[in-house]
Amino acid sequence: MSAIEKLFPTSPQERSFQMKARRDAGTAAPNWVPPQFVACKKCGRRATRQVWTKSLYVCPNCGVHLPIGAYYRFSTVLDHGTFKELNPDIAPNDVLHFPDYPEKLAAASVKTGLKEAAVTATGKIGGVQAVVAVLDSRFFMGSMSTAVGEKITRAIEYAADKHLPLIIFSASGGARMQEGIFSLMQMAKTSAALERFNRSG
Ligand SMILES: [Zn+2]
Repeated sequence: MSAIEKLFPTSPQERSFQMKARRDAGTAAPNWVPPQFVACKKCGRRATRQVWTKSLYVCPNCGVHLPIGAYYRFSTVLDHGTFKELNPDIAPNDVLHFPDYPEKLAAASVKTGLKEAAVTATGKIGGVQAVVAVLDSRFFMGSMSTAVGEKITRAIEYAADKHLPLIIFSASGGARMQEGIFSLMQMAKTSAALERFNRSG
């Protein structure tokens, strides 16, 4: 890939991904994500988002890791231009008609730009094709909903099917309360898929 292609990606998918990664990093010009100055939650050190982005949101003063968004995480891990999202259209479902759940989902979606707490994708790391799943703690504390369980399971099965390595960045607050037993079932479903993947070698 040429330097020009890196700066000005030609495919719409790559342009969209880079926009989302910059938004998650808080540096999506020209509309900077407020606040421009971010303080470390442990030592209180304040710095601009550009400074935090350069240090991958690890505090240069005390070493604490601040939470980071899913697409920004992908951009720090995957080789440039290799991100391909898996099952981007799987969205949460208010199966129990839990009070205020649809409104809270809509608010979380506006705040983070995400449809769900998990983003799964294929891409290359150091030239090696891999499947990567990232949980985003900004969306319902990264909790396991039916849709999150389904996305993670499909990512595991995709990796098994294509004989690819699988990496999961887990940042989850547990099961999604608003989906009750259906979210608890996802624990069994993802664990079973992981065990099958493990046995496949
Ligand atoms: Zn600090």
